[in-house]
Amino acid sequence: AATLDTAFFAAWIEEITRSVGAEKDRLTRLDAAIGDADHGTNLDRGFTAIAQALADKEPDTPGALLTLVGSTLIRKVGGASGPLYGTAFREAGKALADVSEVSAAELVGALEAALAGVQKLGSAAEGDKTMVDALAPAVRALAQAVQEGKDPREAAEAAASAALAGAEATVPMQARKGRASYLGPRSVGHEDPGAASTALILTALRTVAA
Ligand code: ADP
Ligand code: MG
Ligand code: MG
Repeated sequence: AATLDTAFFAAWIEEITRSVGAEKDRLTRLDAAIGDADHGTNLDRGFTAIAQALADKEPDTPGALLTLVGSTLIRKVGGASGPLYGTAFREAGKALADVSEVSAAELVGALEAALAGVQKLGSAAEGDKTMVDALAPAVRALAQAVQEGKDPREAAEAAASAALAGAEATVPMQARKGRASYLGPRSVGHEDPGAASTALILTALRTVAA
């Protein structure tokens, strides 16, 4: 089973960076349909800056690393998703405090803190067609798997599957938060870009935990 140390979290961030780079055109296309066609480039800019910051100096603990990721996203990514993902990673980092090896239960706590931060800042509920529709079921699936005694690999698998299903479930929804909400009923029939990127982030967790 994977040891959830700083190197594990660095590998997770590296895999997110790779997959956001590979999928940035798809994310931007999704945002072109119901937003302003910048979600892929926004996240790619942010994670590229993170890769540079980590190449300069890798933080000593998982918590410090996730906090740096969050701060960089807030600084480099504009729009809605920068502050929201930035808050998510910072809250996760804060929840991990200064432990050097994260338990499965602590990982659950960190992702619960991330979700709470997103919802406090953006006040989106499930069903509003946002990243919350992927993140909330992923956090629940992770928590349930850990509760059942599953190892981090199986728990990450459950979280990734739930996030992907949650992102797909945004297609028939009408947006009630963010730019897409300006379209009203015309937002129906498209996957939410932020839910799609959240699914990428959880899929990256599954990849590194495997
Ligand atoms: P912008 O809409 O400012 O151009 P992005 O395109 O980078 O920012 O991100 C858009 C995504 O942000 C949406 O697809 C949605 O998932 C997410 N989002 C927008 N507003 C909120 C909110 N209030 N709460 C949660 N997520 C939100
Ligand atoms: Mg946008
Ligand atoms: Mg924008």
